Amino acid sequence: MNALTVTGLEVTLLGRRVLADVDLTVPAGSWVTVVGPNGAGKSTLLRAIAGAVDYTGGIGFDGGSLDQLRSRERARTVAFVPQAPTRPDGMSVLDYVLLGRTPYVPYFGVESPRDIAVAEELLETLELRELAERPVTSLSGGEFQRAVLARALAQQAPLLLLDEPTSALDLGHAQHVLELVDHLRVDRGLTVISALHDLTTAGQFAERLVLLVDGAVVAEGEVEAVLTEELISRHYDASVRVVHDPHGGVVVVPVRERAVRRPGVSSGA
Ligand code: ADP
Ligand code: MG
Repeated sequence: MNALTVTGLEVTLLGRRVLADVDLTVPAGSWVTVVGPNGAGKSTLLRAIAGAVDYTGGIGFDGGSLDQLRSRERARTVAFVPQAPTRPDGMSVLDYVLLGRTPYVPYFGVESPRDIAVAEELLETLELRELAERPVTSLSGGEFQRAVLARALAQQAPLLLLDEPTSALDLGHAQHVLELVDHLRVDRGLTVISALHDLTTAGQFAERLVLLVDGAVVAEGEVEAVLTEELISRHYDASVRVVHDPHGGVVVVPVRERAVRRPGVSSGA
């Protein structure tokens, strides 16, 4: 069953067509990653699905249309980690993560002990507990990025949209965060759509990839069908080698077009 169905999606920004006729289907409980060069429209696609930008076309989720949901219901259905979220002035990390619980807090009500427990558990999982009382404006880029993910996970929505969620994270934190998302996906049946610029990482975590170029889907399918030397070199204007890891998966390695040999350095072993 497909959880998400995007049909004929178009987005125009400042008079320019940024997405043109994008179709996308994402099976329920799967992880699909959108890749593509800078400016391809990856963020715009995720923003459209999140309802953060005007579009024409259809976006269906779980048999209904996302457009028809009221904002509270929508926030319980779709959680979005934007590429460049703003940091509210003077807000603590705990309060920031609690924003994710807003769709569960009654109108004119306050957070319940359950809301606070959900937020605190996420602070623990994302190694932010010590920073709970710190203003979000004081966090490092990587710490804030984990707080943004905690806020999105606090929504406990079945559809999770992640726009470059690891761009500020070191190798270990990036792996930890993506493993956590994958664990939640399997455990709770989340459907995950992410945009990632690192192609090797994209291939490690997604079941299917979508290659977006100039606002259009130029390839989609299983990882090995999209991460090919031919497609990457053509669409990224880059020299790469795609290495098939004997332990599974593919590794995309940038290479020099011509090996440059430095004087005095022998090429032998
Ligand atoms: P990506 O995430 O793939 O790098 P984006 O979706 O951010 O690409 O941007 C796609 C194109 O839309 C780019 O050419 C970008 O300059 C343009 N764009 C993005 N946001 C806006 C905006 N708010 N107004 C005008 N153009 C925009
Ligand atoms: Mg982007």
